[in-house]
Amino acid sequence: MIKRRDLKKLREKMVKEQIEARGIKDKLVLQAMRKVPRHFFVDEALETQAYADHPLPIGYGQTISQPYIVGLMSQLLQAKPGMKVLEIGTGSGYQAAILAEMGLEVYTVERIENLYSRAKNLFQELGYKTIKTKLDDGTLGWPEYAPFDRIIVTAGAPDVPEPLVDQLADPGIMVIPVGYLRKSQNLWKITKHKAEVSKEELGGVMFVDLVGRYGW
Ligand code: SAH
Repeated sequence: MIKRRDLKKLREKMVKEQIEARGIKDKLVLQAMRKVPRHFFVDEALETQAYADHPLPIGYGQTISQPYIVGLMSQLLQAKPGMKVLEIGTGSGYQAAILAEMGLEVYTVERIENLYSRAKNLFQELGYKTIKTKLDDGTLGWPEYAPFDRIIVTAGAPDVPEPLVDQLADPGIMVIPVGYLRKSQNLWKITKHKAEVSKEELGGVMFVDLVGRYGW
């Protein structure tokens, strides 16, 4: 086990070299990434790699995203404290913790039971008690709490799930990796404004599959 002080240094180095140096400027995002202890979201055996420049396995064939991708997607949301955000693909819970640390009201859905309960317990332990978790097919959204000011999908979709577009507030922003081939997607930013939905393509990314009724 490495010392807490050293983990903090690794985290600071991660933010400087992987996040700030690559152009992430959103203060809320930078501050959250400096604060959230990423090493708690990976297996203890991988602790020393938690702040490295790549994704890591979290079991069940799933991964925790590379820090830069978390920073990029969080910034693309252009979020302000108090906004309601829906995340599809809780996974390790790291992205949800970043959103909570940014002051957002977080709703997060995971389809794999073990990942869902692990993240739920971790949120309690680390004090992210306001994050609302749900075990379900996230491609259906979370209608009871819709509309959401922001939606972030952290698994690769074959197309944008219709229920998520419906549950996006107006105005609202959704960030989602979309690809007609598995394991290779383009990051899309979907904007809803005055009932019009538009799309911006932001470049190649690689996510695990979004599996569900409106997924793979
Ligand atoms: N945001 C996560 C990334 C996890 S990887 C993190 O910070 O660690 C993507 C996750 O999406 C996996 O855990 C996978 O099980 C989940 N997933 C895939 N399809 C889903 C669906 N339809 N609904 C909810 N979660 C889904």
